Amino acid sequence: MIAEKIELVTRRISSACEKSGRSAESVKLVCVTKTASVEEINEAIGAGARLLGENRVQDAVKKYASIGNKAEWHLIGHLQTNKARDAVRIFSLIHSVDSVRLAKEIDKEAARINKIQDILVQVNTSGEASKFGMEPGSLENFIKETVLCPNIKIKGLMTIAPEAGDPETVRPYFRALRQLRDKVNGSKPAVCNLQLLSMGMSGDFEVAIEEGSNMVRVGRAIFGR
Ligand SMILES: *Cc1c(COP(=O)(O)O)cnc(C)c1O
Repeated sequence: MIAEKIELVTRRISSACEKSGRSAESVKLVCVTKTASVEEINEAIGAGARLLGENRVQDAVKKYASIGNKAEWHLIGHLQTNKARDAVRIFSLIHSVDSVRLAKEIDKEAARINKIQDILVQVNTSGEASKFGMEPGSLENFIKETVLCPNIKIKGLMTIAPEAGDPETVRPYFRALRQLRDKVNGSKPAVCNLQLLSMGMSGDFEVAIEEGSNMVRVGRAIFGR
């Protein structure tokens, strides 16, 4: 049952927090609903899910039409500039911004509806060619180019680790994202303050939390069959 799985994931998050001396409330759970039906999503909301992650705008538009704002919607998958208009209408947080061009398009569309759109910058910390996300070395320029855009707010960073049987093997990619955030936050003169680190999925979220994640994106462990 979905409620039991959410309970189990919540307990695993708490114990990973405890292990690293953090409070359980310091990590937010994004329930990744990309494979879930509207009924299953409603069941999850009934069981306490507050943040829902979708990876395609078109799917989210459909689900949003019947579920609405009973929970917050997050975009976790790649966003094409031509979908930015729908994205700003639905999502409270876009995790997957990976270019200046996309950020500027989001800024423009958010301005049209008088919204300040929260975003995360997706960084490809592993260098895997199959992954979206900018190179770590491009982040500084990205921030310089977008920090003055009035209708977006850069809240933090996101990464997707490679698939791994043993989550220990992906620990360095999570650590790299945290170090990148700390470097931005420590730069002088201060340019922006990044708080969120969206990292960790069903197979690796405990390790991600140990490395400083404060937002985990969990799908299979909740909706898997
Ligand atoms: C599907 C997906 C997840 C969730 O992955 P699970 O292994 O199902 O927990 C997290 N992040 C992104 C970007 C995804 O596409």
